[in-house]
Amino acid sequence: MPKDTSPILSRRGFFATSGAAALTLAAPARAESHGDTFQFEIVRTEKEWREQLSGIEYGILREGRTEPPKSSPLWEETRPGAYHCKGCDLHSYDGIWKIVLDKGWVFFEHAVPNAVLFGIDGPVPEYGGMAGGPGTVPEVHCRRCGSHLGHHVFLSRKILHCINGYALDFKPAEA
Ligand SMILES: [Zn+2]
Repeated sequence: MPKDTSPILSRRGFFATSGAAALTLAAPARAESHGDTFQFEIVRTEKEWREQLSGIEYGILREGRTEPPKSSPLWEETRPGAYHCKGCDLHSYDGIWKIVLDKGWVFFEHAVPNAVLFGIDGPVPEYGGMAGGPGTVPEVHCRRCGSHLGHHVFLSRKILHCINGYALDFKPAEA
């Protein structure tokens, strides 16, 4: 088992190697670590992110960690409404595409068009992956601020967005 220094969140292999560099960069770690010049619309310093986010939220959004299953109440939320990125408030998902699965994360069949982008992440222990082993997962991050939201996974015969509840703000529809 990979050594995990956090009692709450699990660190993915990818960020175990890139996290140190990310701490010194104002731009999101994923773009920098891939060596490209992609510029997200919203860029904050690490200090600004830490002031805006709780510890758990920072670990997920800015370090790519994964919350424990069922730790966020949003996993079983079924009311109609909108799900916004906690990093920049972009409307990213909608309740009409949400699926409740006992896995305990927040699953959607679709994102709001043009709201999320994909990166390469891998292997994720929560999905049966082993650190250092083969296999990667498509990583889902916010189009506007670059924050990590979750992953793209194949479950229940569908490709789904598997999103951390702590990465989202739920705004119930008006009754
Ligand atoms: Zn965002």
